[in-house]
Amino acid sequence: MKKLLITFCRYLLDFAYPRICVACEKQISDTETVLCFECQWTLPRNTNLLIHNESPENKFWGRLKTGGIYSFLSFTKGGKVQNILHALKYRNQPDLGVFLGKLCGKALQEQQLFTDAHYLIPVPLHRSRQRERGYNQAERIAAGIGEILQIPVWHDLLIRNRSTRTQTKTGGRLNRYRNLQGVFGMVPGAPELLKNKTVILVDDVLTTGATLEVAATALQEAGIKELFIVTLAAVKRNG
Ligand SMILES: [Zn+2]
Repeated sequence: MKKLLITFCRYLLDFAYPRICVACEKQISDTETVLCFECQWTLPRNTNLLIHNESPENKFWGRLKTGGIYSFLSFTKGGKVQNILHALKYRNQPDLGVFLGKLCGKALQEQQLFTDAHYLIPVPLHRSRQRERGYNQAERIAAGIGEILQIPVWHDLLIRNRSTRTQTKTGGRLNRYRNLQGVFGMVPGAPELLKNKTVILVDDVLTTGATLEVAATALQEAGIKELFIVTLAAVKRNG
């Protein structure tokens, strides 16, 4: 009887507030969570899985030495991945981050990529931004990856000293880089913990790469042995 009542209440709730897929905005069923099954299976996963340090495709080529860069999904303007990233940032969907992080973790596991890393470190938000959003989407993604790969997430070693809300999208790489100088720092004691460790730096999206580059440099200055970069999505290149 109780079960029947719960089912009925859920039916009423679904009727009043239909749950929708964050990617395609169609109504989702009881057995689906944040994404409908169709979207889960048809997300534009990257086939170009690993960008080596020497690859000309590497956005950080010549500036940052990494053991490899992996972006799980391809981002195109107006596409499903854009809806997902928007929901992650602005629609209070921390569970979506964990869900996608797990999918990303499974993809890494299947290809045996970066599975022997010691720590996952999400790119931090400034505390005022995190307070406003209620969570750090990069940390939620890292939590999902960590659950699959059984790698601990350290979210409090790398800190963001100031918000970069007004970070320019134009003005060229040099300007962006200048704007980001000194944005990231380490808590006292972090370098001792990170020394000679292999670290996966995690963020939601790889666009210009400027933020990741500055965060990665802070980790390397702390003496880590090897750096990998994992993002949920990367902007799809033309051609
Ligand atoms: Zn969908």
